Amino acid sequence: PKTIKGVGCPYCGSSCDDIEVVVSDDETKILEVHNACIIGTNLFHHANDPTRPRLPRKRQPDGSMKEIPYEEAIDWMAKTMLAAKKPLIYGFGSTNCEGMSAVARIAEKSGAVLDNCATICHGPSFLAIFDNGYPSCTLGEAKNRADVVVFWGCNPMHAHPRHTSRYSIFPRGYFTQKGQMQRTVLSIDPRETDTAKLADHHLMLDQGHDYELFDAFRTVLRGFDIPDVVAGIPKEKIKQSVEIMKNAKFCMIFFGMGCTHTDGRNHNIDAAISLTRDLNNHTKCSIMAMRGHYNIAGPGQVWSWQFGFPYCIDLSKGSHAHMNPGETSSVDLAMRDEVDCFVNVGTDAGAHFPIQAVQHLKKHPFITIDPNFCMASEIADLHIPVRIAGVDEPGVVYRMDNVPIQFRAVIKGLPGVPSDEELFDRVYERMCELTNTQ
Ligand code: SF4
Repeated sequence: PKTIKGVGCPYCGSSCDDIEVVVSDDETKILEVHNACIIGTNLFHHANDPTRPRLPRKRQPDGSMKEIPYEEAIDWMAKTMLAAKKPLIYGFGSTNCEGMSAVARIAEKSGAVLDNCATICHGPSFLAIFDNGYPSCTLGEAKNRADVVVFWGCNPMHAHPRHTSRYSIFPRGYFTQKGQMQRTVLSIDPRETDTAKLADHHLMLDQGHDYELFDAFRTVLRGFDIPDVVAGIPKEKIKQSVEIMKNAKFCMIFFGMGCTHTDGRNHNIDAAISLTRDLNNHTKCSIMAMRGHYNIAGPGQVWSWQFGFPYCIDLSKGSHAHMNPGETSSVDLAMRDEVDCFVNVGTDAGAHFPIQAVQHLKKHPFITIDPNFCMASEIADLHIPVRIAGVDEPGVVYRMDNVPIQFRAVIKGLPGVPSDEELFDRVYERMCELTNTQ
């Protein structure tokens, strides 16, 4: 057996790159996984699953799924995309940047809307960042400098299990040699999460009242009085929390979907960014979105470079890219039944979208591109399996702090199964053949 060190974990936004994987001599089996959390460990072992799909499957007139060759699946996808007036290509939480880049040619050629999972997670953060900037830093800075850490509307103990040990609460950094002993942790969450249990202070605010509380923090910081209770939190507790943040050497605010998908949405993040800016009048303070998947920061980077927008990119006008969340966002398009072909890539819209949106999408051709079986693959008209980025396919990923990391392949890919990038290139070539264009 061989031990491969410095392996990246393709699961959560922590994108840990210190995993060690022991593989068989012929590099076809993963034998052991070290350093990863239980989710990451299971993800690697899952690659050995003998039931992994190895061929595309197409729905038959009787409703069953039948295995078909890749050539046939590619031809069907190319023809379906060309026939559609307004296809929607969505997902990309779990694939590499090479795949995200390659799909752009298909999206342009078919006049599609190109969107990613940010549309149902940190899209509101993008809108606030457009308006108010992003005084952020790397996770390395957080580890080396932060002596006050605030988790607002996020629960890394469950969603990003090694975040607290690698970057935020426990690790010893250059200026934080005593690790956890030197850090004060605040959790601001309506529930008593496992992260809240770990924190020195838990502010259990009323659900959906984050904006008021951000505002109260800013008001106190500027020396003005506030009501006795704001968002369920007593004035004294708010004043104490502001004092802790103000007196930090380096305060780090991590925020999650508890802020982006409750009342206020992008306005919550706007207020959080303003609070960060205000705190910089007193000390050093930085803010970071807790991005969910290991490379969900990737499409924001790749597509901003290609099209100028990170998500909700409407290419149906042909001449230019257009972004207007609410109008060009996946769930809204689906709810209004405005798209006539749906391609789900490296995510599970079947599990994550509202049922009414899925019902509309199901009226039209529904294609799922994913290494595994999932709800979206089981309701699709065509399921095309691909390699697992970070396991049997290398590639670039962007960690939650927008730092690019080269992930490696640790085992050989299943014979005949293409990567996302290869698949998209082949579909594009077929579209060109069918239309006699380049
Ligand atoms: Fe993988 Fe996230 Fe666990 Fe790190 S914390 S090993 S990236 S699942």
